[in-house]
Amino acid sequence: GATDGNEVTKAQQAASGGAAPTIFSRILDRSLPADILFEDHQCLVFRDVAPQAPVHFLVIPKKPIPRISQAEEKDQQLLGHLLLIAKKVAKSEGLADGYRLVINDGKLGAQSVYHLHIHVLGGRQLLWPPG
Ligand code: IMP
Repeated sequence: GATDGNEVTKAQQAASGGAAPTIFSRILDRSLPADILFEDHQCLVFRDVAPQAPVHFLVIPKKPIPRISQAEEKDQQLLGHLLLIAKKVAKSEGLADGYRLVINDGKLGAQSVYHLHIHVLGGRQLLWPPG
């Protein structure tokens, strides 16, 4: 029926642009706790639960874009904003000597959560090339 849980879920997905809910949706709606570093009307920044460096946080849009390869021209301002927030929080986290931004896309990019996110890693000497 129109009021059962399945219909509600479908309606919520339609309202959010059709992207499937992910664990990051639950961080955004505060039904899952996170160590939040910054928030504004367009994005949320929180520490990665499995840090790969002394400082490792994620910058995510509130808009549930599943992956960078599915971003659109109309997302241009938002994508630029995420980069500027990444560098601002990197500074406030003390990463004055450098850091790395990473966006994994899809299977071969080893993406595991299909809600766009920028990794910010720092606080140690990072290596290149990545694995
Ligand atoms: P991906 O592999 O680029 O998709 O990165 C997903 C990241 O999300 C990984 O670094 C995970 O450790 C991180 N992650 C997964 N679940 C959570 C969570 O509940 N809180 C914070 N970070 C998470």
